[in-house]
Amino acid sequence: MIPSYHPFRELTWVDLTFWAGKKIVSDGRECFQRKEVRQLSLTKTGGILAWVEAEELFATRVEYDDGELYSECTCQAIENTCIHSIAVIIEFIVHLKKKIDIPHAKSNDRRFFLL
Ligand SMILES: [Zn+2]
Repeated sequence: MIPSYHPFRELTWVDLTFWAGKKIVSDGRECFQRKEVRQLSLTKTGGILAWVEAEELFATRVEYDDGELYSECTCQAIENTCIHSIAVIIEFIVHLKKKIDIPHAKSNDRRFFLL
C-alpha cells in the first residue's frame, strides 16, 4: 500500500538535524546512499520498520507520534537515535515520492521481537 499522506513526507533536513544532530544525519544519509536499507515495511501505527545491512544486520523502527519522532534500533545507540533510523526515514520518503509500494509488516515479523 502507498500512504497518500504521511507526516514523514513533510520532514525536512532541518527537522532531521534537529532530531538527530548533524553528524548522525550526514552518516545516515551515507548509509542510505550505500543502499543498506532492506525490506521497508509499514507498522500498524503509521511507523516504519526495516532491516539495515551495515556492519551487521540491524532491525530499525521509526514512529511518529504527536509531532515527535521516535526510533528503536538493535544497534543500541547511546543517543536516542542512530544513523540507521535516518537512513530508513530517507528511504521511506524516497518510496513515497516515487510512489513505490510499501507492504505492511506482519504482526509476527521477526523485527518486532528483536526491538
Ligand atoms: Zn541503529
